[in-house]
Amino acid sequence: MTDGKTCEKTSKCPIYSGVLKSNEMLTQTYKSLFCENGIDGRNKCKRFQVSSIMGSCPPNILPNTSLTVDEIVAKMRAEG
Ligand code: SF4
Repeated sequence: MTDGKTCEKTSKCPIYSGVLKSNEMLTQTYKSLFCENGIDGRNKCKRFQVSSIMGSCPPNILPNTSLTVDEIVAKMRAEG
């Protein structure tokens, strides 16, 4: 369950679960900017946007990657 402030994809999101173990500060920054910042935060997260279209997002994509959503989606489709 989420409270509206928190992204509904947290349980399956490696960024939220702390995959960036070597950089706890960065994880906390991502959480406050994207994951726990309401709909505005989610809508700025490339992972969230890609997941909304494709149902998932490759684990190595950062919320603020310089790739566009279209580029990520095209790459996923090309790789099947
Ligand atoms: S990184 Fe993006 S998709 Fe993952 S929990 Fe945070 S807002 Fe959601």
